[in-house]
Amino acid sequence: WSPVGSMVASILRGLGMTPETAVAINELMLIIHLGLGITALVIVPLTKLRHLVYSPLNILVRSRRKEGELETIVDIEDAEILGVGEIEEFSTQRLLSFDACTNCGRCEDVCPATRSGSAFTPRGLIQSLHESIQSTLVSPTHGNGNRPEIDFFTEENTWGCTTCGHCIYVCPVFINPVDQVIDLRRNQVLTTGKMPKSVGDTLRNMERQGNPWGMPPEERTRWTEGLSVRQAKAGEEFDVLLYLGCSMAFDERNSKIAQAIVELLHMNQVDFAYLGLDEACCGETARRMGHEYVFQVMAEENIKMFSQLNFKRIVTPCPHCLNTLINEYPQFGGNYEVLHLTQFLNTLPSDSRKSSKGENDSTPRVVYHDPCYLGRINSIMKDPRNLLDSSKMNRIEMEQNKANSFCCGGGGGHMWLETDAETRINHLRLEDALNAQAEVIATACPYCLTMFEDAIRSKGLSEKIQVFDISEILVKRGEK
Ligand code: SF4
Ligand code: SF4
Ligand code: SF4
Repeated sequence: WSPVGSMVASILRGLGMTPETAVAINELMLIIHLGLGITALVIVPLTKLRHLVYSPLNILVRSRRKEGELETIVDIEDAEILGVGEIEEFSTQRLLSFDACTNCGRCEDVCPATRSGSAFTPRGLIQSLHESIQSTLVSPTHGNGNRPEIDFFTEENTWGCTTCGHCIYVCPVFINPVDQVIDLRRNQVLTTGKMPKSVGDTLRNMERQGNPWGMPPEERTRWTEGLSVRQAKAGEEFDVLLYLGCSMAFDERNSKIAQAIVELLHMNQVDFAYLGLDEACCGETARRMGHEYVFQVMAEENIKMFSQLNFKRIVTPCPHCLNTLINEYPQFGGNYEVLHLTQFLNTLPSDSRKSSKGENDSTPRVVYHDPCYLGRINSIMKDPRNLLDSSKMNRIEMEQNKANSFCCGGGGGHMWLETDAETRINHLRLEDALNAQAEVIATACPYCLTMFEDAIRSKGLSEKIQVFDISEILVKRGEK
């Protein structure tokens, strides 16, 4: 049944066309159609419309790794290529993703580095990689026989990103600029050794002292002085292994959070133990700065240590440790139940959490900042808010919140990178909190807390706004 075809046929017949002529025209049309199709297949990938082909392909073959999980270098001791120094060294999937970019700019609209005024933009990175493919792989020579150089290996492209994951969240064709950034960092750190001084210093601290701060390892338990904290020992059973992370152990301000956490766990009669001097850095900073080797050594040592203990779950107050333990240790056989402290506190029966005093209207306006590695990357957004609400805090929201939260600027090793005073991401996030009329910023990440404290101090606003970890707020609000 072909009503349109029949109608056209009767019109053509009325115009005097014979069936033989119609068949000949039909065959000619088929040949033209086929020719156009083949030409389009050859030309479209070389034009701006290439993403019509590559974008769906990229969506199909994209990496299925979890968002917070970086790719591992398998058999690192024997690997010949560490990171990427030449465009050809990117994997086929990565090369395809550069061609899939629609140049829409959504990634740079949300990128904290770009918005802070840095020269780095994720779109610029992906586009420069695309141009590099065109000039080196597709049309590899110019008239003089030399390869045109597209410099994607810039300092900004390599070190500008905080790995906050916002660009990945908004990209319509599932491009992951963080993978490329880490490839470039691995090349600098593991192959050429030409990295910024602050990166070299931090990595040296991790290799020599076992923590990014470069603090003597014996200082790790200084924060426990005067507190009763059970030491985790092989052969003993306990419910919770408290994995604190280096920031709260070594940083003087953040060690107050550690003390509040211990108080909170005691208040709620939690059966927990802490590794003390045996706790080692999870290695997150080394991995995100590109030193995969140091990371793998740290991960394997921690997994060995955990295997000697008898606990039910790991609880950590640091989203960076959480992400590493949940999403990256399974690459090395470390599979555990890992909870962020705010999740764990929400699992306690509500009558075991001490009731809180105060009413909403008598408390300061508190805004919760979602740490990227807790909210957007690991989807933990309700638990911290529940805790603040159950403490009857006068909680408000910033315009950018939850999965759309804006980074504090401390991730991806940026806690230790020297940044230009004109391009400080933490100053922008502090402005967001001030615009929301907040008097207190609550967060659940020690790096975020440091970044906010730094911004408040350098802007001289400590009379106007303060920052606390949620644990500190709960302890202050709880009845003891
Ligand atoms: S991960 Fe964050 S900082 Fe890095 S490019 Fe994406 S949006 Fe920018
Ligand atoms: S959001 Fe994705 S498609 Fe759009 S410019 Fe960025 S990388 Fe390209
Ligand atoms: S420090 Fe906090 S906000 Fe900043 S990148 Fe890490 S988790 Fe995100």
